[in-house]
Amino acid sequence: MKDRKAWTVSVGDELLTGESLDTHGRSIARRLASIGVAVVAHAVVGDDRRRLAHTMREAIEGGGLLIVTGGLGPTLDDVTREAFAEALGEPLEEDPVGLEHVEEWFRSTGREMPPGNRRQALRPRSSRLLHNAHGTAPGFWGTRSGATYVALPGPPREMAPMLDLALAEIMPEASPRPTRLVRAFGIGESTAARRIETLMERTRRLPVATTVSDSIVTARIRGASADDEGEVATLAKTVREAWAPYAFDDGSLGLAGVVGEGCEARGVRVSTAESCTGGLLGGELTAVPGSSVWYVGGVVAYENERKVEDLGVPAALIDAAGAVSSDVAKSMADGVRSRTGSDIGLSTTGIAGPGGGTEDKPVGTVWIGVSDAQGTVARCFQFPGERSLVRRRTVLATLQILRFRWDRVDAALLWEIDA
Ligand code: AMP
Ligand code: MG
Repeated sequence: MKDRKAWTVSVGDELLTGESLDTHGRSIARRLASIGVAVVAHAVVGDDRRRLAHTMREAIEGGGLLIVTGGLGPTLDDVTREAFAEALGEPLEEDPVGLEHVEEWFRSTGREMPPGNRRQALRPRSSRLLHNAHGTAPGFWGTRSGATYVALPGPPREMAPMLDLALAEIMPEASPRPTRLVRAFGIGESTAARRIETLMERTRRLPVATTVSDSIVTARIRGASADDEGEVATLAKTVREAWAPYAFDDGSLGLAGVVGEGCEARGVRVSTAESCTGGLLGGELTAVPGSSVWYVGGVVAYENERKVEDLGVPAALIDAAGAVSSDVAKSMADGVRSRTGSDIGLSTTGIAGPGGGTEDKPVGTVWIGVSDAQGTVARCFQFPGERSLVRRRTVLATLQILRFRWDRVDAALLWEIDA
């Protein structure tokens, strides 16, 4: 491999018709990035031998790493092997170890190998076999004029471990580059970027990059080699401080996981009273493993009568202030907290849209309530976006408000309004 550049090719008609989503492009790019190999081009090609061979030749001429996934099945529409043979200008040969693997796969499941599966033991003459621990199709890899090519089967649970196997054989020296993510909710991306402007300069040795996804801003800090562990950690700490109080830790469980840890550390239990989020908040909290320790449960009180009957919100309060109001949000939070005997009650009530907005309370108006030992508060938001975004942002804002309360942080969140 001349340089640390890669081409990736996802093969399959189903990826071009919109039937299935090409997720390999992304997962392989991530895996390669972790060892400092940059994907310079990614192609999605149908089950078309000539077109595939053309793409392969172009990639091999580029001189880097070529990774092709899919099209290694037993049926005649899977043509990745034949395309490799054409691109490399060499015949396919049956690999005895590969054949034994395919036969054994069927034997172990008590079936006879269909004759068509014998094709799966074929590989270009100069290539080497890659063992598939999770399926019938072996992969293969080889080198050609400074380039390295790899063929992997399509099913993700087969592909991923075989990619690791291939990389270990091809680049035994490559170690994963240290990477840290810092996330923040409740701050706009441009504000977040401005706070770390100098760290983001592309001329820096390890520039910080930001992205936004699911209303959460992420900073990615990646080292050039394993030696950068310390510097990456220091940079992550700097970003976290610059993004305070909005930043939260880079664990994979997200904001709900952070709230769960907070509850455990404080020995408190949470309950939820949800109107506009209809259970999404409870869903987010219960997605965290072990949440039964700190999440009690809650009430989806969508129509007004449920707010009255199930949470004890006074009907007169709803009549006077409206269901989407500070008073009702507080009363919901108090109600669920006292009725469940939990330490903290969280509530949401708002207008998710697209209908239901008024001049006073346009679509996106949401009140979030918190009731705990410190007292009861409600905060108002004007969330942009369509229904699902309004609901999602409500869930995230609720979690962030709880964290702010614990840390006694008095800072406005993005989209919060004085009402
Ligand atoms: P194949 O190796 O072409 O027989 O692919 C078998 C199965 O793997 C397909 O039906 C898909 O479910 C899955 N698959 C193949 N390529 C991809 C891809 N690029 N992204 C996600 N799944 C894939
Ligand atoms: Mg296919």
